[in-house]
Formats: sequence, structure tokens, C-alpha cells
Amino acid sequence: MLNKQEIIKLLQKAGLRPTRQRVLVGRLLFGPNHTHVSAESLYLTIQKQGQKMALATVYNCLNQFHKVGLLKKVHVVRDVIIFDTNLSYHHHFLNVDTGELMDIDDSTISIAGLPKLPDGFETESMELTIRVKPQR
Ligand SMILES: [Zn+2]
Repeated sequence: MLNKQEIIKLLQKAGLRPTRQRVLVGRLLFGPNHTHVSAESLYLTIQKQGQKMALATVYNCLNQFHKVGLLKKVHVVRDVIIFDTNLSYHHHFLNVDTGELMDIDDSTISIAGLPKLPDGFETESMELTIRVKPQR
């Protein structure tokens, strides 16, 4: 977890005013490990820590972070938008039981036999999601 000063610097560098809420959300997101969060999951984490922040505020923070390039919006899992602190090009395993995403490094994947693109289109990006479930 980055300390408060480091988060304030990160926000200022991205052009965001370091409000109390943004600093709190930033401290929960930007640490040594990449993480995937939804507004709802982060809201619950904040509550568990005994802090007060409205769900709408959490959602606004995430969207603002996304707008300035601090987060990627990756997936909609069960109608929930998931934000990703890993900004590099990568893929995901999606646990369909829990909705949890796990990163897959791009270098571990090679994809062959792609279909011809529709006329008039070029590839913008391609991210693979492998849907997994626990073995029964
Ligand atoms: Zn990811």
C-alpha cells in the first residue's frame, strides 16, 4: 500500500485534486499488487475499515481515476463494471462462480486462426477472457 503522500502525488500528477475520498480510494487500489474492483466491492472494503463513503462517491472516484488513465475499465461481469489497476495489455481468467478476475500475462498466450475482420474494420485491441469454474 502506498502511503498518503505517495497517493497525493500520484493524484496530482494525474491532474486530480487529492480530496479525502480520492486519497482513501487510491490507498486501497494502488499497492504492490494489481487488483480488480467494482464500486460495490470497494464500497464494502471501505465500510469494513470503518470509513464512511457513499457508494455513488466510490463510483465517481473510480470513474475519475479511469478518465485520467489510472485505471482500466475491463469487464462487465454480471452487470457490474470491473476496474483494473493493471494498465498493461493482458488477459483474464474469470471465475464464473465468484465473478473474480485473475490476470493472464500477454506473453503466455498466442492466438492463431482468427477470423477475417469485417470489411472496413481494423483491430483496435483484443483481450481474451477465459471463463473458469472450480472442478466438481
Ligand atoms: Zn487485470
